[in-house]
Amino acid sequence: MSVRVRIAPSPTGNLHIGTARTAVFNWLFAHRHQGTFVLRVEDTDAARSRPEYTENIKSGLAWLGLNWDEGPFFQTQRLDKYQQAVQTLLDKGLAYPCYCTPEELEEMRETQKAKGQAPGYDNRHRDLTSAEQEAFAAQGRKPVIRFKIDGDRTIVWKDLIRDTVTWKGSDLGGDMVIARTAETEDQPYGQALYNLAVVVDDIDMQISHIIRGEDHIANTAKQILLYEALGAEVPSFAHSPLILNQEGRKLSKRDGVTSIDDFRKMGFLPEALVNYMTLLGWTFPDATKEIFTLEEAAKEFDLERVNKAGAKFDWDKLDWINSQYLHQMPADKLTGLLIPYWQEAGYAVDKMDRAWLESLTALTAPTLNRLTDVIKETSVFFVDAVEHSEEAMDLLQQEGVAAVITEIAEGVKNADSITEEDAKALIKQVTKSQKVKKGLVMRSLRASLTGELHGPDLTQTWLLLNQLGEDKKRLLETLEKIAD
Ligand code: GLU
Repeated sequence: MSVRVRIAPSPTGNLHIGTARTAVFNWLFAHRHQGTFVLRVEDTDAARSRPEYTENIKSGLAWLGLNWDEGPFFQTQRLDKYQQAVQTLLDKGLAYPCYCTPEELEEMRETQKAKGQAPGYDNRHRDLTSAEQEAFAAQGRKPVIRFKIDGDRTIVWKDLIRDTVTWKGSDLGGDMVIARTAETEDQPYGQALYNLAVVVDDIDMQISHIIRGEDHIANTAKQILLYEALGAEVPSFAHSPLILNQEGRKLSKRDGVTSIDDFRKMGFLPEALVNYMTLLGWTFPDATKEIFTLEEAAKEFDLERVNKAGAKFDWDKLDWINSQYLHQMPADKLTGLLIPYWQEAGYAVDKMDRAWLESLTALTAPTLNRLTDVIKETSVFFVDAVEHSEEAMDLLQQEGVAAVITEIAEGVKNADSITEEDAKALIKQVTKSQKVKKGLVMRSLRASLTGELHGPDLTQTWLLLNQLGEDKKRLLETLEKIAD
């Protein structure tokens, strides 16, 4: 049997991390088994679905490298298929019109609540005679269509992640609505609802494995009954654990994580994010291997090793994974990715020479966890005037430091540009002539050039500033400042 899986997002919001992680597992499973990954857009909720969300979902999946093989299919283009299924179930006597009014249903719920019973439909219109149905219709009542759920039935499936799952028919809330009331006079009933549409699609699209979040478990129990009723083979199911926040609750907007777009804006790389999402519930057979591509993971991916317990979202871990990708990326590629962040911060990168930018990238890359970190980490190369930290000022005001800076400034005065050797030789010369420790010369230089006592490689920092003609200027400005 060929493997066919799908991701079925509802375009009622941007691509969310939970849906994206489900897409990762489906993609990996499809690729592991040379299968097909289908994208289906579940857009039947007309009030909440928006085309821009569909675009966001598609571009988010593409950005993550989760390419789909078929689709996107849109449920709104398939409504007649669902209607046919409703009719089939009616014809088989497995579904029926229910004429209850909202008020009657509300009253039923109140009574159940008062008696301490679980809320649910009590199947009161399951066995109406045609005469009773006609009488309700004559009152102008419009029915919904309900699918019969056998309360005595136990639904059991072998979940590929959770092993045997058992669900009682009596815990499914009574006969379920599969079609709304008609919107126009000539229709016998209205639009089909979610559970039926999903089953019709999954049958039609020959989905072999349904891999989705565990919040769909109760739906699975209902859907299995629908497969049986429609005479179709029941696919395999795998319910992946939810992504949790640090408190162990389902991750939500309040945790500062919403859409995949947000992760992009925060400076995460798509390959790092998919790597991290894979680790939210799955580990490589060699658990020490934490950095891997989708292709590498696909060779090893299996659902049996997906955790049953919820996966806690860990920002530090995501930062670490992202940093691993950033640190090993070639400077030319990384520079291309950093440019938009520099531009957005208003840094004058467009005036800079590409080779200079690549050297700056190489210098700063080891300090980056996220692309956005580059704004802070490189700000000193783009400012007009250096601001000195308190500790830098303390150092600069130490005895002998002014003389050190003066001699360095003299040393660069006559040279338009300096080489690494020049820089090193000058530091050595000053150390000797001022009879101070090399460390003091280095710290004084760094404090003058950057306003800080710590930072990336000093010689490289100096050379980059020298190429901008900034080193001499900053040394002289520092001298003025400490003379005040
Ligand atoms: N449309 C559903 C959702 O966005 C997914 C349905 C499914 O995977 O079966 O949660």
